[in-house]
Amino acid sequence: MVFIILDLEWNSVYGAKIRGYINEIIEIGAVMLDEELREIDEFSVFVKSKIGKRLQSRVKEMTNINKQDLENGYPFPEAIGMFQKWIGAREHVVLSWGDGDIRVLLSNTRYLTAGRKLSYISNYADLQKYFRYRCHTSKAQQTGLAAAGEILGLDPAGYSLHRALDDSRFAAQCFRAIYDPADFPSFMHVCDAQFFGELEYKPRIISDIHSPLVDPRQLYYLCRNCGKAAKQQTEWRFASRGFQAEFYCERCDLRAKAWVTFKKMYSSVEIKRSSREIPPEGSEGKK
Ligand SMILES: [Zn+2]
Repeated sequence: MVFIILDLEWNSVYGAKIRGYINEIIEIGAVMLDEELREIDEFSVFVKSKIGKRLQSRVKEMTNINKQDLENGYPFPEAIGMFQKWIGAREHVVLSWGDGDIRVLLSNTRYLTAGRKLSYISNYADLQKYFRYRCHTSKAQQTGLAAAGEILGLDPAGYSLHRALDDSRFAAQCFRAIYDPADFPSFMHVCDAQFFGELEYKPRIISDIHSPLVDPRQLYYLCRNCGKAAKQQTEWRFASRGFQAEFYCERCDLRAKAWVTFKKMYSSVEIKRSSREIPPEGSEGKK
């Protein structure tokens, strides 16, 4: 199996077809690594823009890509055809730093070709997610590629970061530093219909309490002090965070406002609970 580390540069443009902004790919870069993580091949191509007429100045400054580069590039369907050919029939896993690249690749494919999926990619892994796992960094922490390199003690000198090929080379360096054949496979996803469905799915909070997705047995509150079921004082009503009601625990003489959130995910309903104590009437700190 080969590892393909992919990186894209894109330009945010208005797409009339979708009446909204789309990140149009302007450069595709990738490196291919063998099972010993040695680089065996590289891929780099500019994509001639079709949706956007002008390059955002932010993109121009960050990437140093100019209009002429794009003029000399290949139209997206051709560039993708080249990429597909480059991967060939090899058993592979595509990796990218965060799943943004794969989302953008999918949205560009939908917008600019007749394709609906990325049929040429058979396995995918989010390298940023793997990095967080291996280095015990949290989601909240800045883990851009450059920051990750710093954590791993890698020198970005000699790489022109924010360019597709060099970003993928540097990401490959990071991958080499953290790769463990024992745990990596659990980060690999087969790119089937479910994978793409999940990738594109936008989770939503359920606001209708009578929805069949709301399990009424989940509408309860356990006293945060004693852990026993507290008595419901008000009807459940929907507030922005979820369903909300007030509770009273006779045992502890404590009042609380509780929230239960039902979030519809691609193939499940996620339930989250939170609560806040209601201070007794006339108590301190109520001034
Ligand atoms: Zn209690």
